[in-house]
Amino acid sequence: MTRRYQRKHSREQLGLFPEALDERISDDNPVRAIDAYVDTLDLTSLHFTNVSSSSNRGQPPFDPASLLKLYLYGYMNGVRSSRKLEKECQRNLEVIWLMEKQQPGYKSIANFRKDNADALVRVNRDFLLLCRSLNLVSQDLVAIDGSFFQGNASLKSIRTHKGLQSQLRKLEERIRQYHESLDAEDQDESQHSTDGELPDKLKRLLDEKAKLDQALKTLESSDERQLSDTDPDARKLFKNGQKMAGYNVQVAVEADRQLIVASDVTNDANDQQQLHAIAAQAKNALEADQLTVLADAGYFEQSNIKQCQDDNILPYVPEPNKQRAIKDAGRYGREDFIYDSEADRYRCPAGKFLSKTGQSHRKNNKLRDKYVSKKADCDQCPLRQHCLASKSRTRQIYRWVHEDSLDDHRQRMEAEGAVRMRQRAALVEHVFGTLKTRMGWTHFLVRGFRKVRGEWSLAVVGYNLTRVLNILGTSVFLKFCEHLKELILYLLFWIGRCYRPIPNDQHASY
Ligand code: SF4
Repeated sequence: MTRRYQRKHSREQLGLFPEALDERISDDNPVRAIDAYVDTLDLTSLHFTNVSSSSNRGQPPFDPASLLKLYLYGYMNGVRSSRKLEKECQRNLEVIWLMEKQQPGYKSIANFRKDNADALVRVNRDFLLLCRSLNLVSQDLVAIDGSFFQGNASLKSIRTHKGLQSQLRKLEERIRQYHESLDAEDQDESQHSTDGELPDKLKRLLDEKAKLDQALKTLESSDERQLSDTDPDARKLFKNGQKMAGYNVQVAVEADRQLIVASDVTNDANDQQQLHAIAAQAKNALEADQLTVLADAGYFEQSNIKQCQDDNILPYVPEPNKQRAIKDAGRYGREDFIYDSEADRYRCPAGKFLSKTGQSHRKNNKLRDKYVSKKADCDQCPLRQHCLASKSRTRQIYRWVHEDSLDDHRQRMEAEGAVRMRQRAALVEHVFGTLKTRMGWTHFLVRGFRKVRGEWSLAVVGYNLTRVLNILGTSVFLKFCEHLKELILYLLFWIGRCYRPIPNDQHASY
C-alpha cells in the first residue's frame, strides 16, 4: 500500500531512549563554530561587562559569553532585534543549544549590545587575527567601498542651518501676524470675548521660537553642519538620488578570500576624504609593509592619494574627468600639455613652453603654481582656436605643489587602471549586497557612533565567520578553535609559573 504523505509522529509519543539536546545539533552545524570561537576569547581582556561579577545581591547576570554567542548567531541569521532574539531563545533549537537553555529577557539582550559596544569592536579585530593565523588573508591587496545605512533616525529629525533659519523666518512671520491681530482686537472691544486664546497661542509660538533659537545657537557654536534630535551622530546623506538619515559605512576587503579586514562608520556622505583613513587602517590591521588599494572614482582626492603614497600604500583610483567641458568645446585638455620636471615647465601641443609665474597661491586648501604661455607664441599659433578660450590671449595651467605624486598615480592608472577596476568590482561590490540582503541588514538599531560601531562590528564578525566556515568547513574551524584553546591554556600556565610570587623565605636568600 502506498502512503500519500510522509510519516508523521505523534506529539505525545515518548522515546525509548531520552535524547540529549546536543544530539539534535549536527556536528557541522555553524552554531558549534560560534560556540567554539567565543570560547577561545578572553572576555576580561576584551573588557566585556559582567565578566567577573562578585556581587551576591540580586539575580546573577547572564554570562557575557552566552550573550555574545546569541548576538553572533542573530547577526549571521538576520535576527538582530533583542525582542526577536528573546523569542529565539525559547523556540529555536540551535539557540537553545547555544544558550545552554538560558532565556534572557529582551532588556538584558539589548543592554549587552549597548554596554559592550567597544568590546564588540575588539572582537572584530580579534577575529581578523584568527583569520590571519589561518592564512586566509592576503596582506598585499585590498579593495575599498562605502555604502549608506539608515540610522535610527528620520530625515525630519535632522536639521540643517538653512532649514532652521527658514523655520525661524516662518515662525517670526506668524508671531508678527498674531501681534497684529492682538492689536486689532484691542481696538475692537466687541471681540474681547476671545481674550486669553490668542496670548496662549502666542506663548506656544514664542516657546517654539526659543527652541529654534537655541538649536541654531548650538549648531553655530559647533563645527557641525547638521543637528540631529534623535541620533546625535546620524546625518542627512545624499548620493546618486539616494537620500537617507544615517551613516556612510566604509570597508576594505582583502583579495584572497574577500574577508573584511578594516571598516569604519562615518557620517560624511562624501567618500573623497575616506581613502587614506581606511587604507591606513587596513595596512595596520594586516601589519603589511606595503599595500595596494583599489577604490572607485568617488574616492579620488589629491591629498588622500599623496598621503597613501607617503605611507607606502599604492592607490589605484580613477581620476574624475574635469576637463570634459573643455574637450567637448574642441579644445586641448590639460593632459595634452606635457610637464617637464627638470625645467619645471609645460610643453604645449605646438611645442612651445608655459613657464611658472609669480608665487604659489592657495585654493581649496591646496598650494598651487601657475604656468602661463607666452602671448607672442599664442598670437602666431595655428592651433590657438583648439587651445584658447574665446577671450583668452594665453593658456594657463595650475599645478598643485605635490602634483608629482599624482603623476605617478596617473602613470599607474594608465598602465593597469582598467584591469585594476575590474578586480575592484569583483572583490568588494558584493559585500554590501550580501550584508543587506542575506543577513537582513539594512539599518542600525542603535544610536550614536560608539554603539553603531559596536553593532557594525557584530555584522562584520558575522559576515567574516560565515565566509570562513564556507571556505574551511565547520569541522576544520572547530579543530582550529580547539587547538587555539589548548594553546591559550598552555600559555596561561607558563605565564602563571613565570610570574609566580617569590616566597618570603626566598627573598631573604638574595
Ligand atoms: S595657443 Fe599658445 S599654448 Fe596653445 S598650443 Fe598655441 S602656442 Fe601653445
